[in-house]
Amino acid sequence: MTIDKRLAKRVKLSDGALITKMLDIAEGLDDVIKLGRGDPDLDTPAHIIKAGQEALANGATHYTHPLGILPLREAIADNIRTYGGADYAADEIMITPGGQQGMFIIALSLLDPGDEIIVPCPGYNPYQQAAEMSDAVVVKVPMTLETNFTLTAEMVEARITPKSKILVLINPNNPTGTVTPPDEVRKIAELAKKHDLIVISDEIYARLTFGNNTVVPVASLPDMKERTITLSGFSKAYAMTGWRIGYLAGPRALIEPMSEVNHAFAISTAAVSQHAALAAMTGSQDCVEEMRQTYDERRAAILEGLDNMGMGYAEPQGAFYVYANVASLNLGITAGEFCERLLAEGRVMMYPGTIYGDHTDDFIRMSMTQPVDRIRTAMSRMAAVVESFRAD
Ligand code: PLP
Repeated sequence: MTIDKRLAKRVKLSDGALITKMLDIAEGLDDVIKLGRGDPDLDTPAHIIKAGQEALANGATHYTHPLGILPLREAIADNIRTYGGADYAADEIMITPGGQQGMFIIALSLLDPGDEIIVPCPGYNPYQQAAEMSDAVVVKVPMTLETNFTLTAEMVEARITPKSKILVLINPNNPTGTVTPPDEVRKIAELAKKHDLIVISDEIYARLTFGNNTVVPVASLPDMKERTITLSGFSKAYAMTGWRIGYLAGPRALIEPMSEVNHAFAISTAAVSQHAALAAMTGSQDCVEEMRQTYDERRAAILEGLDNMGMGYAEPQGAFYVYANVASLNLGITAGEFCERLLAEGRVMMYPGTIYGDHTDDFIRMSMTQPVDRIRTAMSRMAAVVESFRAD
């Protein structure tokens, strides 16, 4: 038996394989404009980097408490309160090596084989991977462009069964950029109480919204704190992806045992990253607003390019993605084929929505992770590729 056949059944690599293929194609090309990964091109603000450097010089080179350093947990609790969230004590916050690891800690801690977890579709796919690794049953709530990929309580209720245990809400959502309207969040919270569900509320993009869109923190709603785990982090709002730090906030009765799982995985999150995150939490929040405005300008440049091409898209209300509809161009190709040719011929990288559960293979996700002038170049290269498809 070849060695790869010995991999455990739970290891499903298809999504990763697609990204790897795209990265391989990009490797052989010059001047590729990368709008693929959700990794900001913006630098971590200088005061945060400085705090990390100083922490290292002052000996932050050891394991920390498994929940994370106390000042950081206190600062996160303050920050959550400042933005209208629930009232947390420091031991109700757990620092994790990235929000992503938080998803696996939650799934492995809360899901038994056969338990059902309801996830938005399209949505950030590691929730599904984490659930599958726990032998749980993933129940997808399909959302469509007609309703701007908005998750509604009605859609969720239709999928609740006696085995439902967790409901995942990603607000704003990745890849669609949709913000779940406050009224709908309230209705979803009522459903969770009625059916005794635990809500995982991913609010990692909550500070990055556009126009009048705002995110209601689920745990702040009546009687929701005790059944909500809020997942968030520093990667997106503070451009700190490489520092690998995020956090979970939830009821003590869940955070305490989950902290043991976190300890088993990682012992603790890197001390240097925790000190940098502390500066992010306690310093001026102007940097977040500046980044938000930058994304808003980039968003406008992408939408102008798509409008010129006649390509449809979901209204991006938050996060830093535009989710566009290749099928609206009637080229007779899938989004996957479009992405490959766009990369090979146009030297622009974007990801097909299939990575995030789009079964139609009609959508592509563009990250707003390049400056406006590069985005404009990307859009004209894309328009040229669309024309070359038409000429075929
Ligand atoms: N949640 C969502 C919705 C995301 O899009 C991502 C990353 O793209 C994460 C969580 C994980 O972020 P990190 O592990 O960098 O904190």
